[in-house]
Amino acid sequence: MHAEMKNVMIFVSDALRWDYAPERIRKLGPTLKTVAQSCHTPTSFASIVTGMNPPKHGVEWFYHRISRDLYTIFDLPANVSYYSHRYDALHQVFGKRAPCIPLDSIQEPFVYLEKNLHTHAPYNSFYSGTAADYVRESKKKPEIYLRDYEIAVEKATNDFFDRIRTLKRRGLLDRTLLIFTSDHGEFLGEYGLLGHGFPCAPELVYVPTVFIHSSLDNKDSLPTIMRHVDILPTIIDLLGIKVDWAFEGVNVFEVDETLLGYCRVTFPHLFPWKIVVSSIWNEKGGFVKLQGSALRRLIVLLHELMYRSQTLEPFAYCKRVRQFGEHLINADESIEVFENEYTYGYANKIHEGPFNNKKISELVMRLRVRRKIRKMKLEKRI
Ligand SMILES: [Zn+2]
Repeated sequence: MHAEMKNVMIFVSDALRWDYAPERIRKLGPTLKTVAQSCHTPTSFASIVTGMNPPKHGVEWFYHRISRDLYTIFDLPANVSYYSHRYDALHQVFGKRAPCIPLDSIQEPFVYLEKNLHTHAPYNSFYSGTAADYVRESKKKPEIYLRDYEIAVEKATNDFFDRIRTLKRRGLLDRTLLIFTSDHGEFLGEYGLLGHGFPCAPELVYVPTVFIHSSLDNKDSLPTIMRHVDILPTIIDLLGIKVDWAFEGVNVFEVDETLLGYCRVTFPHLFPWKIVVSSIWNEKGGFVKLQGSALRRLIVLLHELMYRSQTLEPFAYCKRVRQFGEHLINADESIEVFENEYTYGYANKIHEGPFNNKKISELVMRLRVRRKIRKMKLEKRI
């Protein structure tokens, strides 16, 4: 516990991949390679705010809402804010739990979460079309796309330093834990692709997370990889907040186990023939599994060939399984555990997790009862 930490600012640079983590920010604190829990925004954000993997929070797209039975970062005993543009659909995903309060007026103690869109297409702020138009047009000029992305990373970095200046001006910087991260990565021409969402590949899965506070200088004991689900439990431990919530994540400054990350995406989101892509990752690679009939995979393959890719690469990533980098032992079984049990994702003790590893079906009622008791206590009825 760090008594001087009272507040948290989480800055999520949307679609910022690991290998583009800005050096200016990396220099400020411990930087961890992070497995994104999904390749698209709503699923990843739901994991960031709940500390749970996608099979538990159930958010696949913007029209899904985090269950009321799950605790979120917005239930912490603090002034909370989710700051983004006014029409951001994530407010619906969060169930309107957090108001949109700017950093220059939120009062202590606070939890401030911001989604910054510079690194999300279209990167060029003068472009007037949609993100999809921008990606489509950029296929003909990938070098400009790449240049625009690099400029966008610089703009996001400038915004982050602007937030630091705001905290400094208000005299809050010493008491605020800063976290810089991203919800997923971005294709910049790999496999003939631009943008994000599908397929599940290292360019989308790995993102940076930087923890910044004057008390955080012990870089030797950090794990080689962390996950989105670790952000909330790490915050709770560092701030010394007393809650008895359960998470699938761990405090990255205390853990001494090797971690595995789970990433899940459904694609395409809006059609009945979507496929589910499940995967597990360590710092060197991942195992990706497509769940869906051969017919569905064929339809997705044709969709990819027609609309997104200029190569034959879709034939490879529509295969039922695909391996990136290092071979993972018992990968298939680990995916089963992430999808059917609560797990901390320890590589060598995959069944270990909160709730004594009960099956999900046995736990749904217990979660509901716990939530109800807490609510009644708050209302002073018991
Ligand atoms: Zn995103």
